[in-house]
Amino acid sequence: MQTPLITLSGIRKSYGGGDAPLVEVLRGIDMSIHAGEFVAIVGASGSGKSTLMNILGCLDRPTSGEYLFAGENVAQLDSDELAWLRREAFGFVFQGYHLIPAASARENVEMPAIYAGIPAAERHARATALLERLGLGERTANRPHQLSGGQQQRVSIARALMNGGHIILADEPTGALDSHSGAEVMTLLDELAALGHVVILITHDREVAARAKRVIEIRDGLITSDTATEHPEVQHSANADALQAVDLRQRLEDGSEHNGAWKGELVDAVHAAWRVMWINRFRTALTLLGIVIGVASVVVMLAVGEGSKRQVMAQMGAFGSNILYLSGLSSSPRAPRGIVSLTDVAAVAMLPQVKMIMPVNGSQATVRFGNADHASYVGGNGINFPEIFNWPVVEGSYFTQADEDSATAVAVIGKKVRDKLLKDFSDPIGQYILIENVPFQVIGVLQEKGASSGDQDSDDRIAVPYSAASIRLFGSQNPQYVAIAAADASQVKQTEQAIDELMLGLHNGRRDFVVTNYAAMIQAEARTQNTLSLMLGSIAAISLLVGGIGVMNIMLMTVRERTREIGIRMATGARQRDILRQFLTEAVMLSVVGGLCGVALALIVGGVLILAEVAVQFSLLAVLGAFGCALVTGVVFGFMPARKAARLDPVKALTSE
Ligand code: ADP
Ligand code: MG
Repeated sequence: MQTPLITLSGIRKSYGGGDAPLVEVLRGIDMSIHAGEFVAIVGASGSGKSTLMNILGCLDRPTSGEYLFAGENVAQLDSDELAWLRREAFGFVFQGYHLIPAASARENVEMPAIYAGIPAAERHARATALLERLGLGERTANRPHQLSGGQQQRVSIARALMNGGHIILADEPTGALDSHSGAEVMTLLDELAALGHVVILITHDREVAARAKRVIEIRDGLITSDTATEHPEVQHSANADALQAVDLRQRLEDGSEHNGAWKGELVDAVHAAWRVMWINRFRTALTLLGIVIGVASVVVMLAVGEGSKRQVMAQMGAFGSNILYLSGLSSSPRAPRGIVSLTDVAAVAMLPQVKMIMPVNGSQATVRFGNADHASYVGGNGINFPEIFNWPVVEGSYFTQADEDSATAVAVIGKKVRDKLLKDFSDPIGQYILIENVPFQVIGVLQEKGASSGDQDSDDRIAVPYSAASIRLFGSQNPQYVAIAAADASQVKQTEQAIDELMLGLHNGRRDFVVTNYAAMIQAEARTQNTLSLMLGSIAAISLLVGGIGVMNIMLMTVRERTREIGIRMATGARQRDILRQFLTEAVMLSVVGGLCGVALALIVGGVLILAEVAVQFSLLAVLGAFGCALVTGVVFGFMPARKAARLDPVKALTSE
């Protein structure tokens, strides 16, 4: 004799206990079902039929008693193995159809195959074929709410058959249908039974039950009659044999058939996530604001930081990072401004750390050409000016030692001055300009620096020989400040100290001078910008946290709203980890969308900043980093809701509102 497919002995199920009143729903059920049988379980409402079906379908565990499936004790299977059984052996048909509302008919039918790891093309073909066979070939793309009750029930039958549907468990399949649709569904079940599927039909209707070959009557949790007095003539079909032949234990341990499922599941999860997000797009957009702002501020912060760093580097490169300035200063509020004399300059020039030195005697002055007036900085410079400031002449030439020696009235003008006063001349060399009413001949034009510090534009300047400035313009011999190039750019600090010591000695310990360096000035400016970055950084961190909480919130809502869907997925064979993965994918999807919007916002803000002439330098690394932060936020904050979903009890999830 063959092992029965299903053997129940002494199955009991009770609810409650403890505080809640104890309800004994099943009170010792014994029965066995063989391959190829068509059984109806009939009983009044409340007699425990659905409870029994949930136990038969491994959606629920009995309180006590033994359930053998193909000789295997179901109590010893873990939740993954039970999911495997539901996926491979059973097909459920419920009174309320239990289709996923957001998915199309075909997607609903495909679901069990996704969890079985069947490739997409095969899945689509099979689902379409099943729907066609059940007369729904035209309806594959319709969502459940666009189908009649009878059509929905046929979709759910197609779903039950998707993975083979060796055992069809139908709980009041006609209960919600009109008599015509009900009859159609019954005809279908008849046909399936004839094809060798085990059909277990649960109904309160004796007439419906009469369609089955065997009728088991149940009352108050006990079997009161069973028409199978002895084992029926089982018609062996290929289908029934197939299931019987497999060594269940062997297949359970052989996990290989589930390989590749993740791919289908991922696509399905992304699809499902996108659908839900789209349906709730307003809610989603509001909740994602945190992530959007967080990502945008990270990207903008880094772009502004990088931009200002590059600007500083560019300025240092433009003037040389080895430049120091020495100038007079009041040693006390009442003392007159100290004087750095040419004797001091000569002494400083002797220091080994000093490569070049140039006294500058300069001031703002009025410059005139024809009847155009312009105020510009005029500096009496040495002939090493172009070298010290790394500032070549692009038209004409710089003045020479001979000009310096004879205090010749020649001028080398900056780009801005040329543009202001001499823009009509293709060649300004040789023209005379009036500086403080003294005629100077233009002999050269400086290259455009484009750099500015504070409100001083470096191109708005005129260089004349030091001697000419002293004698013809300012009357004073003493330099206004002294520019010094350190021998080693990495030793600027030490050079500054050496100059400081020497000058203190020369000035008899009076600190009526000051030494600064260009790099230090720029770095001070950069520090202010760092504070800005820090502020943006904290905004980013807080926003991401708020965004993460938003994701968690939306996921918790989703899990609650879709508890029924989770139950359906479990009934069609999803394992806990499949559900976990699905909801994690949704959380990550949310964050990805938030992250993308954040990057877009950052680009817009960056564009506005560029228009406002703020130095902005976007970096791919920053964008990827911020995006990564969003992803991590999704995973971290999505985990708890996803785990909550995965741990739902299948029956409770299915019967939830
Ligand atoms: P049927 O499907 O035959 O109408 P059910 O199996 O759904 O009956 O329910 C049988 C009995 O079990 C009912 O009296 C019902 O109130 C009770 N019952 C079902 N589920 C629960 C539960 N989760 N907690 C407490 N009682 C339950
Ligand atoms: Mg019921």
